[in-house]
Amino acid sequence: MTQDPLQTPVQYVKGVGPYISSLLAKKGVSAVSDLFYYFPLRYLDRRQIDAIRKLQPGKEKCVVGQVVGIGVRSLGRSRRRICEMVVSDETGVALVVWFHFNEKYLKKKYPTGKKLLIFGECQFFGAQKQFVHPEIEEWDEESAASDVPIVPVYPLTEGLYQKTIRKIVFNVVEGYLKYLEETPLTVRAGGGETLPPQSGAVPGGGKPPISLKESIEQIHRPPASADISTLNNQQSLWHQRVIYDELFFLQLGLGLKKQGYKKEKGFIFKPVQTLLNRALKLIPFELTSAQKRVLNEIGADFSRPEPMNRLLQGDVGSGKTLVAFLASLVACENGVQAVIMAPTEILAQQHYINLKKYADSLDVKIALLTGSTAKGERDEILAELVSGRIRIILGTHALIQEGVEFARLGFVVIDEQHRFGVRQRAALKSRGGSRTAPTPHSLVMTATPIPRTLAMSVYGDLDISIIDEMPSGRKPITTHVFNEKMRPRAYDLIGRELEKGRQAYFVYPLIEESEKTDLKNAVEMAERLKEVFAKYPVGLLHGRMNPAEKEGMMDQFKKNRVRILVSTTVIEVGVDVPNATVMVVEHAERFGLSQLHQLRGRVGRGAEKSYCLLIAGYAQSEETRYRLKVMEETNDGFRIAEEDLKIRGPGDFLGTRQAGLPEFRLAHLVRDGHLLNAARKRAFEILEEDPALQKEEHRILRKILAQRWEGKLELADVS
Ligand code: ADP
Ligand code: MG
Repeated sequence: MTQDPLQTPVQYVKGVGPYISSLLAKKGVSAVSDLFYYFPLRYLDRRQIDAIRKLQPGKEKCVVGQVVGIGVRSLGRSRRRICEMVVSDETGVALVVWFHFNEKYLKKKYPTGKKLLIFGECQFFGAQKQFVHPEIEEWDEESAASDVPIVPVYPLTEGLYQKTIRKIVFNVVEGYLKYLEETPLTVRAGGGETLPPQSGAVPGGGKPPISLKESIEQIHRPPASADISTLNNQQSLWHQRVIYDELFFLQLGLGLKKQGYKKEKGFIFKPVQTLLNRALKLIPFELTSAQKRVLNEIGADFSRPEPMNRLLQGDVGSGKTLVAFLASLVACENGVQAVIMAPTEILAQQHYINLKKYADSLDVKIALLTGSTAKGERDEILAELVSGRIRIILGTHALIQEGVEFARLGFVVIDEQHRFGVRQRAALKSRGGSRTAPTPHSLVMTATPIPRTLAMSVYGDLDISIIDEMPSGRKPITTHVFNEKMRPRAYDLIGRELEKGRQAYFVYPLIEESEKTDLKNAVEMAERLKEVFAKYPVGLLHGRMNPAEKEGMMDQFKKNRVRILVSTTVIEVGVDVPNATVMVVEHAERFGLSQLHQLRGRVGRGAEKSYCLLIAGYAQSEETRYRLKVMEETNDGFRIAEEDLKIRGPGDFLGTRQAGLPEFRLAHLVRDGHLLNAARKRAFEILEEDPALQKEEHRILRKILAQRWEGKLELADVS
């Protein structure tokens, strides 16, 4: 059997031994092909070496100078130490400054007289020119004569040096790139314009398309004529080619997955609406037009032969749960059971309380199953699920545990779906009973608005509905950012609201590693608030309490017996107390934007004006200030999500990698939205024409797809 040369362990590459390969492993590089995709962070432009005298502030520049001396000094009266190195060329002197350094190491590495190439942003302090933590390389005759004028700068790890990694990548590109399977995609200048894969010619003239191989090579070794700024922005044609490639195969995989769903047998529901109409009469308000539209979209899916796979997005409080319930009624009337799974007990409980009154009036048997359901009751519920007596069941993870079986499960709803993994979703769907039973319709809901580009990637296999309208009568929430010094002002505002009979939340961040300290903070806060607001009962809610205790406390708050509720983020999702009008977030700087938005959504649920007070510590970075400002400026969940995604990137944005997607090496969903659109369009066109990718010219796509998705395409029919 012949081994795929691209899978050769890096250890066997020229210039790499066990030590270097262990360093590379830290960077996720194990095989030769990983090195193709180990892309430079940026580039050093050696074509233009500046005279020190001519340096301009704020520009990234290269200078070549000789070390005059190196030393450490203290900054002012503080204990902070910095290391400074003086370098000079024929025209002047400049300083190189390190804030984090190993003195001995630097002195040894940069002895007086050594010639160095220094690259970085030049700052001016009066007449003094300095580089802070620049790129530095030894400069010798060889580098002066180098035929690599644009030099890649790679991500490093302790012990790995630019020179080493450059050589390694160079060797790999030389020796192995020829084995890389060429992807038959073509991208033209301007980005995103695609040609049919089999076509070599370029309609309408223009530059011929570039190959993946060429692109990878040029990204690692740009030609002397390349434009440095497009390279640094990762927007060169070569970069675009690789990005497009990544996005195309992502979309092709998602498209196949989507087709997989279509092949499953689903329940075809009749558009019977007796229960639904009766429910609409019971509900004391009118559905928003967005809610009506989404119900129609779900209704249309219900009547198709394949199972529904729909994502419902809507800001907190937009009325998603109600829509899920109304859709469940249509399912019930079609003789199947419906299940609604929520991420926490409190939420499940709250859904249950809200919906039970309607279900009871409609004579639809509804039940709640959570981890704290008593054994006897649980047994009864399980029996009634198998017998089919229970028509709608709400609950938590307890619903996917051993022993839960349905008579005829036809509709599955997952609330706050990002809290669950792909597997849990699948587990719930598979409760339907026998293997021959049709696949239930599924609706996943999220209150985290997901920017379109991300939704298209992560949920590209789902259809998407959006509730983009709040029930009328809701007042926008006013948000203020306070620092520690301004705390009394925040307390004044809270005091006024309490005076009016309203309630307030205080939320503390809970960071896993320091759960204990944070809990301590929350407990101390509660004590302090008892003093500050002596007239009002203060309650405490945290993750260490058992479910009954939590419920008890929530209940006290709902009943207005507790006026101030101090909690760790356990209340983050879905809790509904209309009389609460103030949300105070402590250490607001530690929360992500989407999380803050979720928390804010806990208030503004009644007719009264509500406030969100963000209290941030002193040490605020530029970025923190910006983030908190966004919160002050807007209540628009989608705008906030876009900002959040820009700051955090998709992995963090979604909280985990549980979305189960291949990771991107180069693509950036915000920046590369145009390429994403083009890639999706092309991928779906190909699948339209050749759904199983069986045509000769598509075989290769199948093969590459299988490699890239490595077993993540369970649902799709790819082998
Ligand atoms: P979400 O799950 O989207 O956060 P919910 O379904 O929990 O929102 O609804 C929040 C609150 O708004 C609930 O008390 C619900 O009864 C109420 N509600 C839902 N739809 C409407 C509507 N069209 N008009 C007024 N109130 C509504
Ligand atoms: Mg909800």
